[in-house]
Amino acid sequence: MLQFVLTILLIVPIVIESAGQWSYDSIKTWGRGNRYCAGHSQSPIDLRYNVSTYDNRLKKIVLEEQRTWGTPEFLNNGHTVQLDLKKRYVLKNLAPGSEEYSVEQLHFHWGHSADNTNGSEHLFEGQSYPLEMHIVTYSKWYANIRDAMTNTRALAVVGVFFELTEKPNPSFQPLIEALAKIQNEGYQAEVSDLFDLKELLGDKRMERYYRYDGSLTTPPCYESVLWTVLVDPLKISMDQLNAFRGLHDFKTKLMANTYRPVRPLGTRKLFRSFPTEDIQEGIKLRMTTELNNGQNLKNNMQLIAILTCLLMVVVL
Ligand SMILES: [Zn+2]
Repeated sequence: MLQFVLTILLIVPIVIESAGQWSYDSIKTWGRGNRYCAGHSQSPIDLRYNVSTYDNRLKKIVLEEQRTWGTPEFLNNGHTVQLDLKKRYVLKNLAPGSEEYSVEQLHFHWGHSADNTNGSEHLFEGQSYPLEMHIVTYSKWYANIRDAMTNTRALAVVGVFFELTEKPNPSFQPLIEALAKIQNEGYQAEVSDLFDLKELLGDKRMERYYRYDGSLTTPPCYESVLWTVLVDPLKISMDQLNAFRGLHDFKTKLMANTYRPVRPLGTRKLFRSFPTEDIQEGIKLRMTTELNNGQNLKNNMQLIAILTCLLMVVVL
């Protein structure tokens, strides 16, 4: 009898923890219902070159296609949009001597239409990108993702940033077109066979990345994730980005600001797969582009002011 009572006492908190609907409107309270969310190995983090260590054992990650048949389903789950990729790809070479990881799904985090700066979960040298994709995988030592979920490094997630460009990204277009069919929670749609994750990512992009031990970035925030965040962003046009910003969440509101703010690195180590290289150049380039954009806006405002004055002179 005592054993039965003890078992019930042990099970009840687990049930309570996994129950309940979480929301991006109340991130600060996630730790109350899910103790891991208040832990010390949480994600996302700010990826800073100056606190990272080069690990020459971190090699290019290989995404290998296992099967091509079947059409992947894209689902609006009320918190994000998620592409089911079960049994389609494996990740190899993730860590020195590590096993293969099976790709389960990919999903996205973004901001909102009046803000092209924020949206990504990880920061890069203190700056965010407007969109971040997460490719969620689990160790082949486990039968499925559910069994793997709570075990250290049994999950591996690859984060990929997106930066805004003038031209649409053609490799991304099949996903964008499917978004129109999954505007509301619970809707799902097939994605065209033209979508090819390997082609989208490109081979070279898998070489330069940051690596650390972290967590799921949504409740229950299990600290079981081997994180990889690629340094080189993918490209997306404003129209493509806006397709995400028009989706609706589980409260039928616009799905906006679907990102968790960064958590402290704490005593954890941040590794990188590349030596010194030109990463600082990349940061400088990005800041120059942003400054130029600001300058263009200023110039446009001046032009509008001059035209208004001229118009007033003509009218008077
Ligand atoms: Zn995510």
